[in-house]
Amino acid sequence: MNKVVIVTGASRGIGAAAAKLLAKQGYAVCVNYLHASEQAKIVVEDIIKGGGKAICFQADVSQEADVKRLFEETNKAFGQITHLVNNAGILFKQASLQDIDVDRFQKVMNTNVLSCFLCAKEFIAQIKKNGAIVNVSSAASRTGAPFEYVDYAASKGAIDSLTKGLSLELAERNIRVNGVRPGFIKTDMHADGGEPNRVERLTPQIPLKRGGTVEEVANAVVWLLSEQASYVTGTFIDLAGGK
Ligand code: NAD
Repeated sequence: MNKVVIVTGASRGIGAAAAKLLAKQGYAVCVNYLHASEQAKIVVEDIIKGGGKAICFQADVSQEADVKRLFEETNKAFGQITHLVNNAGILFKQASLQDIDVDRFQKVMNTNVLSCFLCAKEFIAQIKKNGAIVNVSSAASRTGAPFEYVDYAASKGAIDSLTKGLSLELAERNIRVNGVRPGFIKTDMHADGGEPNRVERLTPQIPLKRGGTVEEVANAVVWLLSEQASYVTGTFIDLAGGK
């Protein structure tokens, strides 16, 4: 079977690791990015050097027209898209409720949740049956991230419900929908959130006493998309070192 996957927000971090690992498993990969075209090209070059197939494509996945173009161009390059990783996400600086304004809240919801909805819609418009989606949620959907990012945590909670609902709605078409919930993974997202060393600060609270790696999350994404997980849908893998 020809396996074609779109990984959103894949120019760096967890998305880049998932894109590379999926390519090693034989997927043709579309590396979606927002602004970082140079980084996205490097991910594509790495994949091609390793004998894999990849393109990169700029699209803001919170915009319906961009999402349509992303799917059209991937389809033109590789044929029917069979798998989807909704990974793109955004985290603003730590703040309490009174300091989170409506613009920030909406931006977080649009980037983190609306994007999953739009990409899932486009995905099922072009594949009628047999496929898989993984949504990248967060351990914050369980903790609520008080005094830090309740907006972000709420967006990840919404991803969890969307994952569950879509898994039931798409089960009769054998399209599986699952999620991963990373805990503290050392990526540039924490610097964007105003604390580059957040993982180190919180390590003592993690039962396994270390942050996770992007490869550890990518492994779970790859497994959930694979035939090895053919009877798994509507579920989540927590990758949070026991937290
Ligand atoms: P990251 O910031 O490196 O990756 C996020 C990517 O999404 C970036 O490349 C960014 O450019 C892209 N992006 C943002 N808005 C976009 C848009 N509108 N359209 C397209 N791309 C867009 O951080 P990461 O840690 O690799 O995060 C990947 C995912 O994992 C995110 O959904 C994040 O919420 C989730 N996550 C990360 C952690 C962690 O500790 N790093 C923990 C839990 C969940």
